[in-house]
Amino acid sequence: MSTSLPSVTTRTEPRSAPDGMGNGLFATSDIKVGEDVVHAAVPFVAVLDSPRLEDTCSGCFGKKQMEGGADLKACTGCRVVKYCDRPCQSKDWKFAHSMECPIFQKLKPMVLPNNARALLRMVLRTGRGKYSPRELEIFNGLETHMSQIQEIQAQFDRVNLTAKAVKEYSQSDMTHDDIAAYAARLDLNSFNLTTALYDRIGLYLHPYASLINHSCDYNATVGFDGEEIFVKAIRPIKKNEQIFVSYIDTTTPNEVRRKELIERYFFDCQCPKCAKGKDTPEDRFSKPVEDTSVLEEAERQALELMQSASASDAKPDETIACLESALHALHKSSVWPLTRQPYASIRDQLIVSLLAGDKFHKAFIQAAIRYLRVDPELYSPAHPIRHIHAWILAKLAIYISQGGEPSPRDPIQLQDFGINFHYILWYILADLASRQPESCTVPSFKKLVGANFAQVHNEFKSHGIDPSTQKAVVSAEWRKLERLVQYALDRE
Ligand SMILES: [Zn+2]
Ligand SMILES: [Zn+2]
Ligand SMILES: [Zn+2]
Repeated sequence: MSTSLPSVTTRTEPRSAPDGMGNGLFATSDIKVGEDVVHAAVPFVAVLDSPRLEDTCSGCFGKKQMEGGADLKACTGCRVVKYCDRPCQSKDWKFAHSMECPIFQKLKPMVLPNNARALLRMVLRTGRGKYSPRELEIFNGLETHMSQIQEIQAQFDRVNLTAKAVKEYSQSDMTHDDIAAYAARLDLNSFNLTTALYDRIGLYLHPYASLINHSCDYNATVGFDGEEIFVKAIRPIKKNEQIFVSYIDTTTPNEVRRKELIERYFFDCQCPKCAKGKDTPEDRFSKPVEDTSVLEEAERQALELMQSASASDAKPDETIACLESALHALHKSSVWPLTRQPYASIRDQLIVSLLAGDKFHKAFIQAAIRYLRVDPELYSPAHPIRHIHAWILAKLAIYISQGGEPSPRDPIQLQDFGINFHYILWYILADLASRQPESCTVPSFKKLVGANFAQVHNEFKSHGIDPSTQKAVVSAEWRKLERLVQYALDRE
């Protein structure tokens, strides 16, 4: 169906939504799991977070780098943004950089924060008539929640200050109030721009995708492939059903979700999951607890340790030690499920820290726990996060199967478990590859998985082995992995 929007393909249309949700998108046909609900090839605006300007291409947002691109070269005019090559540079030049480059030069050595850079781009593009009338109409119809923002002094000041600066830099003839409304709409309607591997790199806005309402019980997920946004069905969606994505991390307990949605998006969630209150897996403990003070104390300790772990002056080894202690604090309460937050997110942070510190053996154990015990509870089989986590485990299995050295000081030595990591790797990739048609991951990720699986499978074949015909061998290796995971969890 055409939305009369350039570069958007979709099987939805905007309609007014029930329960005071304003407008929403509704399916115009049945949509199967993994299929595109909305795809927009060109953003309304997308910018990198300031630290990412150094290491990510502002033209393709890291897409070519993931395929093994060359070194980035800075724009010779402003030296603020960097690109893979000529095509990436000239694409961004035409989109907005020709207008912003002279402004960036004047502001040096100051570099504007991401939201100001995004606002500047939108104002400059509006002034040059680069948006279609329909695009602007939908954008201008998006919520600003200005009246609520006015009551929060800090946020109101920030919106006005950014608008004032952008009006001055751009020399735009838009009014201050119109620019401030742009800023408020950006705050409220932007998505986290991520890589195909779901690492956050910046801010993204497309007015059509922003029409999608929130539910903690969502039926679609959002992913990015370079500057393209993909909204995909994570459940079968019937014709005329409303599309929902989640604006927040919905693995957290009811009260945490409610607070975040009210504070950040100004609404009280009425979704089916929130209607159940505390009677959902996100809120439950392993068994009923009489004395909740033990749990409160465990959570307090864990949160305090998480904070020390993220302190700016914490050394990598200290960060890891704090996160391991935080896991231990929840583990010893003996009723805290691995999937109840903040347990799962502490483990996620620990894996990131272990990878950053080149502690690949320890990272493998944690990633295996997440793969086997956490993700199957938290995410449905088509969920992109589950696929990305499996991919990280596969990458670690590649490292270990190629003889990556263990650290003699690790409390758990992988080699004690006699695992053949080649078979583990083959199984994870084979499973990922077989789930591709129904997965909500983006095309670049699917390509990566397909290529790696083919390579691993061919290596086996060159030795005259086909693991797909060796079910017993593969399951025996898998049982060893299960033993390793249980052993590690008992000692958490
Ligand atoms: Zn590029
Ligand atoms: Zn420049
Ligand atoms: Zn909800």
